[in-house]
Amino acid sequence: MLKITVLGCAAGGGFPQWNCNCEGCRAARAAPETHEGQAGIAVSADGAHWFLINASPDIRQQINATPCLHPRAGRLRDSPIAGVILTNGEVDAVAGLLSLREGSPFTIHAHARVLGVLAENSLFGVLHPDLVARREIVLDTPFEPRLPDGRPSGLVIEAFEVPGKPAWYLEGRAEPSEERPGDTLGLRIGTTQGDREVFVIAACGRITTALRDRLRGAAMVLFDGTLWRDDELIEQGLHHKTGRRMGHVSVSGPKGAIAGLADLGITQKLFVHINNSNPLLRPDSAERAEAEAAGWRVPRAGEEISP
Ligand SMILES: [Zn+2]
Repeated sequence: MLKITVLGCAAGGGFPQWNCNCEGCRAARAAPETHEGQAGIAVSADGAHWFLINASPDIRQQINATPCLHPRAGRLRDSPIAGVILTNGEVDAVAGLLSLREGSPFTIHAHARVLGVLAENSLFGVLHPDLVARREIVLDTPFEPRLPDGRPSGLVIEAFEVPGKPAWYLEGRAEPSEERPGDTLGLRIGTTQGDREVFVIAACGRITTALRDRLRGAAMVLFDGTLWRDDELIEQGLHHKTGRRMGHVSVSGPKGAIAGLADLGITQKLFVHINNSNPLLRPDSAERAEAEAAGWRVPRAGEEISP
């Protein structure tokens, strides 16, 4: 059965963010039980071998807090983590790879554009190619990732393009606002046993007809919950960019995710990658209640879910 463990559901910066005094971060500092790490999930077909979807800067703490990701008994150096699937090249998706150096074998799966980013940043050379293979994800082509010893994992993963933007730190080096294939991937994850599937779309710039058609009738969707409102960062005085400019559709509003993914017959809808400016991240907020009334949920770190 497909198993999913949520490692964190905050966007870049986490909750609270180290240098932020917005209302949400202030409230979080006073309530440690509401702290949330940066977005990540782990998936497994057998409950024994796991693949991370992105590796945030919080990955070390997230692994320590998640028993199924601990070294197995009787082995001095070991990890049940067999691979990392990258959906984009943002810092909060790739920086955690640096914490996974220490000589354990696993495989990185990413689009050629993200593999290019890793290749030109020499710091990622700490992941020795003899131990950490890098495999290209080809869009719209399902693949079964392998375990480090070559055996099949039992997972079937298909990546597809969703509207998005290149990583912030790459802007200015190329066509700044142009969308190019590979910048933002959505994933459809199932098993070779034909279990129900989950869609993981941690970043998405807008809801298109093609995306709605793809998600129609899905058993489970984990979706980009970065901002409640498109102008939220500007309105709170935190940043000058809209969500649309950053490649994130807002949660609310007529063009938002709640409205855009309503009436598609999706059984379980969960928001992940929620920015600390978004009141949705706060369990007691009116916005959380509004999302829940619309059939959405925000998972907690450590929660095990299945489609
Ligand atoms: Zn904040």
